[in-house]
Amino acid sequence: MNTPWGFEDFDAHENLHFVWNEECGLKAIVAIHSTHLGPAGGGCRFWQYADPADALTDALRLSRGMSYKNAMAGLPLGGGKAVILANSQREKTPEMLHAFGKAIDQLCGRYVTAEDVGMSVSDMIEIRRQTPFVAGLPVEGGEVGGDPGPHTSLGVFLGIKAAVRRALGKDSLNGLHIALQGAGSVATGVAVHAAAEGARISIADVDQAKARHLADAVNGTVVGTDEILGLEADVLSPCALGAILTEETIAALKTPIIAGGANNQLATPEDGGRLHARGILYAPDYVINAGGIINVCIEYLRSGDARAVREKIEGIPVRLEQIWSESAETSRDPASVADFMAQRLIGRG
Ligand code: NAD
Repeated sequence: MNTPWGFEDFDAHENLHFVWNEECGLKAIVAIHSTHLGPAGGGCRFWQYADPADALTDALRLSRGMSYKNAMAGLPLGGGKAVILANSQREKTPEMLHAFGKAIDQLCGRYVTAEDVGMSVSDMIEIRRQTPFVAGLPVEGGEVGGDPGPHTSLGVFLGIKAAVRRALGKDSLNGLHIALQGAGSVATGVAVHAAAEGARISIADVDQAKARHLADAVNGTVVGTDEILGLEADVLSPCALGAILTEETIAALKTPIIAGGANNQLATPEDGGRLHARGILYAPDYVINAGGIINVCIEYLRSGDARAVREKIEGIPVRLEQIWSESAETSRDPASVADFMAQRLIGRG
């Protein structure tokens, strides 16, 4: 990787913007990885980081992931991401969101924001007061827009089904056990779809109340956050935060399939090889979790209706199949195959 700045995750990002507004306490980073295919599209994360360097790492990794995600989903968008560094009280005021909107506006459309972890549709409404370069806004009368979460969930569910078909030879999730890490927006939709097809769901979330609420809704079981990754299950679906697949956790996995919505699931590129060596089928995260950005893109560009969104999301399992087939033919792990495909699409292959 190209690291002229000494940041391990710097990958020839086109621009990095550091935003600081003392009056309202906004501290944010906007990372634009690539605008090769269009304006850099990617959500904004609101998170309390132990160290600002962690926020930079997150912005660098997430924005590169967005370039890959948008390219692999066939969207006319480049890749970018913003992170807002929450203070210890995790206060998010309208003033902060307005200041963030102003900062986005100054980028003149090179970056388009939307929801990510910690940000909601109502936050997008506040940002919209200062800039048009935002999506994930509420919609009326059948127009495309709103929370991208359910669209991400649908894509992940279809991806899980494709993985089950490939690895287990089954066309339905009926009777299968799915271990779900997280009980937030994406996990909830995945659990609801999978339970409707007859899957048995185990759920872990650091927020016990959320885990319990979701388990009750889908007749599932709550398990500990330290148990979920090592649970014996047909599918492990990581739908919380990133870097959870490490040398150590991979060695302890008891599942034939990893297919979930969380961004940046692999702690290092080598971890894709480790999963492959163990014979675990991996659905590259930025391919399977593209449903939300598909909805955001069609909303922002006003390029289609709900049917167009659905059709594009149905392309996710098709793309996964292409990756797994190439992986089988070349003996390269699916994560590397996907990276290689994405890099070619953004002109960096
Ligand atoms: P969310 O904030 O609604 O849910 C995340 C959940 O994960 C929270 O309930 C949180 O308590 C839980 N969590 C955090 N750390 C955990 C841990 N160690 N163990 C168990 N649970 C933990 O966020 P979301 O929108 O559902 O996003 C989940 C993941 O999917 C994130 O990685 C996000 O970047 C990714 N993603 C989301 C979308 C989207 O449309 N929302 C799109 C693509 C990717």
